[in-house]
Amino acid sequence: MKRDRLGFSYPIVDSDICVGCGACERACPALGEHRDDLLQSISWAKADSPDLLERSSSGGIFGLLARKVLADGGVVCGAAFDEGCRAVRHVLVDNEAGLDAVMRSKYVQSSVGKEAYRGVRDVIRSGRCVLFAGTSCQVAGMRGYLGGLADGDLFLSVDVICHGVPSPELWSRWVDYRAEGFGSDVCDVNMRSKTTGWLSYSAMYKHIAEKDNTEDTESQVFGKDWYMKAFLANASLRSSCLACPVKRSSGADITLGDFWGFQNIHPEVDYSKGVSAVLCNTEKGERAFKAIFGLTVNGPATLEEVIAGNPSLVRSVAPYPRRDEFLNDVSAGLSIPDLMVKWDFRSSLWRRVRGILCGIKRRLKKFVCGDSQ
Ligand SMILES: Cc1cc2nc3c(=O)[nH]c(=O)nc-3n(C[C@H](O)[C@H](O)[C@H](O)COP(=O)(O)OP(=O)(O)OC[C@H]3O[C@@H](n4cnc5c(N)ncnc54)[C@H](O)[C@@H]3O)c2cc1C
Repeated sequence: MKRDRLGFSYPIVDSDICVGCGACERACPALGEHRDDLLQSISWAKADSPDLLERSSSGGIFGLLARKVLADGGVVCGAAFDEGCRAVRHVLVDNEAGLDAVMRSKYVQSSVGKEAYRGVRDVIRSGRCVLFAGTSCQVAGMRGYLGGLADGDLFLSVDVICHGVPSPELWSRWVDYRAEGFGSDVCDVNMRSKTTGWLSYSAMYKHIAEKDNTEDTESQVFGKDWYMKAFLANASLRSSCLACPVKRSSGADITLGDFWGFQNIHPEVDYSKGVSAVLCNTEKGERAFKAIFGLTVNGPATLEEVIAGNPSLVRSVAPYPRRDEFLNDVSAGLSIPDLMVKWDFRSSLWRRVRGILCGIKRRLKKFVCGDSQ
């Protein structure tokens, strides 16, 4: 795999050593044939544990599934920060202490390397269960690599509703810029801190304060953090995300996402720390969700309700209108301060007015239906 100037990896075939077996083409999520994911059930759900909810991006369902797999002697493979938070890669975790590293969404493309593919395969071959979580293309890729092993009871896969993955190069330079501003390295990032709530989450950066060598945090609500604005404007996404080849066809046993708009459907439920949409696509997924049912607050939902707040479940996003020009500037090495001056990603006047109107509507509904519990 070779990285381009934006940090996205692409396959290069070395024809001198390739034996033409076609294994890479069969595993490639962009080339393979994919069956549509069937739906066994669809629910809203959130973890009953306030601590787990606080430490998760959405409703904490991934954390519950992962704990169950670990308790049963299995292994979890998910995305963790690496290289001083400048990169994200998939790692294997076999104990509760290591679990925190693979929790929470990291909005940058994660690299699934040889260690992850072979690690997952070897754990299954040793008779232990693996929970693999990632974007739909990563689940499709892992399933393609595993072949028949993926359909057995020892492999459980979760994909996230994904609106696309941003450039690893942009992220790495953004962390450099933040570290320079702090005068010390960034030691942790939470892109979905709920200190300001689930609906108005913040991007939180932890660093070591120079003055007294203690940990310090700085956070900004997502609409003010420049990196998050570029991501949410669909300016920094990989090209293939604009025409995702595996939307609702990754083969994942369970699909998880934020249940955006939940507050308008169930204002009586406390949604302040996150609620997820849980789509069980296979019987295996349904069994795994049932096994953690008692640790959640949940209820039935419909596909229409999820899609209304989260069209990314079924559709690729439309790109930022001047995405190519923005990415050319990133590739050309424009500094973060220069990029920030040129690209402010302010939402259009209409979008801002619509946001204010939606807020008023939400508050009115809450007022009419009474306070949430
Ligand atoms: C790039 C990206 C885009 C997303 N876009 C949307 C969206 O448009 N709408 C929506 O509803 N939800 C989206 N999500 C999913 C959402 O943010 C939550 O991850 C999901 O709801 C599960 O939350 P949780 O509380 O159950 O688990 P969490 O504890 O938050 O677990 C998150 C899981 O995602 C995996 N993960 C984290 N970062 C990455 C990464 N960079 N690449 C691959 N896997 C990763 C972790 O390994 C973990 O398994 C996106 C997630 C990512 C990573």
